[in-house]
Amino acid sequence: MPLNTATGNMYEFITHTWNTVKGECPHGCIYCYMKRWGKQKPAHFDSKELKTDLGHGNYIFVGSSCDLFADAIPNKWIIETLGHCDNFKNKYLFQSKSPGNMITWAPIMPSNSVICTTIETNRWYNNIMGDTPTPCERASALMRTLMPKYLTIEPIMDFDLIAFVDIIKRCEPTQVNIGADSGRNNLPEPPAAKILNLLDELQKFTTIARKTNLGRLLKS
Ligand code: SF4
Repeated sequence: MPLNTATGNMYEFITHTWNTVKGECPHGCIYCYMKRWGKQKPAHFDSKELKTDLGHGNYIFVGSSCDLFADAIPNKWIIETLGHCDNFKNKYLFQSKSPGNMITWAPIMPSNSVICTTIETNRWYNNIMGDTPTPCERASALMRTLMPKYLTIEPIMDFDLIAFVDIIKRCEPTQVNIGADSGRNNLPEPPAAKILNLLDELQKFTTIARKTNLGRLLKS
């Protein structure tokens, strides 16, 4: 199978995406961009992807369409995915809303890997975030690893500035990616001034990668 070139709303620094686990992501976030494709099959392993040539010198987001490290994903699927990555000289991004699970796999991740979790806010918005650990639980898990790590604030939701900055700072991310809802999901979004305050605070201790979709909120 050909490697997918990163398109659309993907991070600008990512060159390709690669997914061995396909179908419905176990987390079920209500804003999930995959929902635009309608009802999906249950999560399953696509062994044909193990024939994909991952090339070299790429920056590949592994598991971009279904969380590779969710509780329901069998270990065998993760082992086969990580093993295939290790056959190619690339940089890999592993992003999960179950970072507590993800960091247990760090010892067998390819050496040039970055891990990432999403924290949309410091708050818990019931009925929006699906079956995920709370953002604070996700951040706490990330604090427990010394691996290179990013945090992603997307889709950004209304937050408490001091508490949110404190949580992010304690994760010690080398980069924070920040973006907005692209799917008109009627989320509780923060006003522009609050986002600008957040950006001001973050740039004091980390690199910020803004996604273009944040522009909609900054104009409001
Ligand atoms: S974790 Fe990501 S892929 Fe899974 S349901 Fe949530 S938004 Fe979709």
